[in-house]
Amino acid sequence: MRPLVAHIDLDALRHNYRIAQRCAPQSHSVAVIKADAYGHGALACARALADEAPAFAVASLEEALVLRRGGIDTPVVLLEGIFSADELEAVDAHRLWMTVHSHWQLEALEAYTPSAPIPVWVKVDTGMHRLGFDPDEAEAVWQALRDAPQAGQLHLMTHFATADAEHSSHYARQLDCAGALARRLKAPLSLANSPATLAHADAHGAYNRPGVMLYGSDPLERANDASRALEPVMTLRSEIIALRDIAPGERVGYGGRYRADTPRRIAVVAAGYGDGYDRHAADGTPMLVDGQRATLAGKVSMDMLTVDVTGIADARIGSEVVLWGRAANGAVLPVDEVARHCDTISYTLLTGVLPRVPRRYHPLP
Ligand SMILES: *Cc1c(COP(=O)(O)O)cnc(C)c1O
Repeated sequence: MRPLVAHIDLDALRHNYRIAQRCAPQSHSVAVIKADAYGHGALACARALADEAPAFAVASLEEALVLRRGGIDTPVVLLEGIFSADELEAVDAHRLWMTVHSHWQLEALEAYTPSAPIPVWVKVDTGMHRLGFDPDEAEAVWQALRDAPQAGQLHLMTHFATADAEHSSHYARQLDCAGALARRLKAPLSLANSPATLAHADAHGAYNRPGVMLYGSDPLERANDASRALEPVMTLRSEIIALRDIAPGERVGYGGRYRADTPRRIAVVAAGYGDGYDRHAADGTPMLVDGQRATLAGKVSMDMLTVDVTGIADARIGSEVVLWGRAANGAVLPVDEVARHCDTISYTLLTGVLPRVPRRYHPLP
């Protein structure tokens, strides 16, 4: 078998979830497992957290149905609500919670007769300017839902644009806006994403919504004690499949981007952009070969990449190569660090691991 595997450490997932809870002991932490749990496998992750999480959050009805069909009966929040009115039947039948961010969604709900009131999160746009009602129309929406027999328990929800920044007036304005509305409506709040869960106790509401931190990525511009305690959940692991020595002046890979200035030992690894490893990775992107740091040398190909192992004396065919995560010797390469070399964020690397990479769960779910 091709040696590339994404190993998923479910104990680390639970450890990280407990950090979210410890940061916000007065809040319920909804585990955000949209996008197949950021590439980790939604059903396995939901099963691993089912005894602890009061609810899960996903991006769509399809993602919620994967959980229900897998036997998860915990509440599930649809973060963007329904995409068309005909989804309400399934929302009702599967006892999902829905976000309402637009007037058409409110009207569709008011025109529907569910078998039981549907819990609703009213999304307010406090400054992200993506989804949600304007703050000055939120009160009318809230009243309409309070009067609607179709709607069950109501929460006020907003999403921060800059909770990861150490100092942000934009964040402070969003928090003030949400707080003022909540006081006026006496509304329970859901505000905090991962960075706000980790670093902004003032944003902890009835329900927090930690996502990427559950998978061990530190979203903070400046790490704190809680974020430093996160553990990687995914280890993307492969092996060396070929080795060669090249002379000064020789080039490696497509376009000849990498050029050796001294004699170098180059290893070929079974992993490429066809697996989701980012083709934007620059020369110098770190990886762990037998638990020791080595760096990418040359452009990433579809099924292979090349790494400079000159300094690693016993690198051989079959040597372990960790592209991010934890090596067999315990060394850790954070996905956040790899992301910086790819000019991206951990979210795109994790969600980008393609289906052809088998996921292997530890311990087995
Ligand atoms: C994805 C998402 C989250 C989780 O964000 P992280 O940065 O991964 O913690 C929270 N709330 C909403 C509305 C989201 O879409």
